[in-house]
Amino acid sequence: MMSVWAGPLLRLFALALIALIVGSFHSATAGWALLAAGLVLVYAYHLLQLARLTRWLDLACRGKPGKVPESTGGWGDAFAALHRLRRDEQTGRERLSDSLDRLGQAAEALPDGIVLLDPQLRIEWCNSAATRQLRIDAVRDRGVLIRHLVREPAFAEYLQSERQGEPIVIRSASPPERTLSLSLIPFAESSRLLISRDITILERADTVRRDFVANVSHELRTPLTVIVGFLEGLVAGDAFEKADLIRQYALMYDQALRMERLVKDLLTLSALDDTQPPSNEELIDMPALLAALVEEGRALSSGMHELGLDISAGNLQGSREELRSAFSNLISNALRYTSADGTISVSWALRDGLPVFEVADNGIGIAPEHIQRLTERFYRVDKGRSSATGGTGLGLAIVKHILIRHQAKLEIESTPGKGSTFRAVFPVARLP
Ligand code: ADP
Repeated sequence: MMSVWAGPLLRLFALALIALIVGSFHSATAGWALLAAGLVLVYAYHLLQLARLTRWLDLACRGKPGKVPESTGGWGDAFAALHRLRRDEQTGRERLSDSLDRLGQAAEALPDGIVLLDPQLRIEWCNSAATRQLRIDAVRDRGVLIRHLVREPAFAEYLQSERQGEPIVIRSASPPERTLSLSLIPFAESSRLLISRDITILERADTVRRDFVANVSHELRTPLTVIVGFLEGLVAGDAFEKADLIRQYALMYDQALRMERLVKDLLTLSALDDTQPPSNEELIDMPALLAALVEEGRALSSGMHELGLDISAGNLQGSREELRSAFSNLISNALRYTSADGTISVSWALRDGLPVFEVADNGIGIAPEHIQRLTERFYRVDKGRSSATGGTGLGLAIVKHILIRHQAKLEIESTPGKGSTFRAVFPVARLP
C-alpha cells in the first residue's frame, strides 16, 4: 500500500517544491506554470498506462491475451501482479486440462462401454468401447435418445422398469453376434450412466463348461449302467452259468477300464489346464523318444500294420513327458483308425527350417466337415469305432493343449478312404 502511495506523493511533493522555488526566485506565474505542466505530464503518464492496461484487457476478453505490459513504480507493481495472476490462471487451466485428458484416457482404456445420458436419456458422451459394443458414435449420435440406437425390446422394457441398476443381458441379433450386459446407473441430479460389458466369451465359456459336465456324465453313465445292471443280477441271487459269469465279468472289466481311461484323460486335461507353459523344460533326445514310441506302436499293432520311422532332425527343447503323451496319442490314433495291413509313417524333419513331427496313415480318413472340430473334447466322427478301440474322445484335445503349451501348431490333412496326416509344427525357438 505504502509503495503505491509513497512514490507518486513524493514526486508530487518534489514538483510542488520546485514550483515554489521557481515562483519565489522568478515570478509566481512561472511557478504556477511549472506546477501545471508537471501535473499535465503526470496525468498523461497515467492515461498512457491506463490505455495499455485497457488494450491488454480488451484482447484478453477476446481470448487473445498478449504479453502483460511492463512499467515502473506503482503501475509496474500492478502489471507484475497481473502477470502473476495470469501465469497462475494459465497453470491452473493446464492442470485442469491435463486432469480432463487423463480422465478421458482412463475412460477410453476401460474395456467396458460408458455412455453419459441426460435426464431424458439422450446421449451426451460415450467412450470407444461403447462405440464398438453398442455402435454409438460419440459425435454423430449426441442428443439422440438411447432407445433409438439400442433397439432390443428387452432394453426398451428395462428403461421403463424399476430394475435399473441391476444388469440386464441382451443378445445382438445382427452380426457379429454378441451378448452384452447393460446397467443403467443414476448419477448427479437425474443423469444416468449406461455401462455395457461384452460377456460373449464368458457366456461361451459357461456353455462349454455345461456341455463338458453333461458329456462327462454321459460318458460315465454308459459303462456304469452295464456294471450296475450286472451287479443287480448278482445281488438278486440270479443263477448264472460259469461261462456266462466269466463273460459278464469280462464285460464289467472292459467297462471299468473304459472309465479308468476316461478319468485318466480328464485328469491329464485338467493338469494341462492348471499349469502354466511346461515347467519341466528339458532337451529331448527326439530320435530316442520316437524310436521308443514306434516300438510301442508296433507292439500295440501286433504286426498288423507296417510302421515306418524317418528321422532327419535333431533334439527339441520342451517337456518330454507332455510331448511323449501327444506323439503317442497321434500314433495310437493312426493305428486305431487304419485297418490291418495299413501303413503308418512317422517322421521327424525340418520343413522350411521348422521342426515338424508327422504321422501319416492310409486308414479310413476324415470328411472335411469334421476336421475343424476334431480337437473339441469328446468330438468323434464315429462314436462306435472310437469306443470299440478304447477311445475316450479326449486324445486330440490333449494333443492340441500340449502343442499350444509348446507354441506349436497342429495341422490335419485327410481324405476319406485314403488316409490322414497329423502334423505338429514347432517354432524354430524350440530347437536347441
Ligand atoms: P478318440 O479317443 O475318439 O480317438 P481323439 O480325440 O483322439 O478321440 O480323436 C477324435 C476323433 O478324430 C476320433 O474319434 C476319430 O473320429 C478322429 N480321428 C483321430 N485320428 C484319426 C485318424 N488317424 N484317422 C481317422 N480319424 C481319426
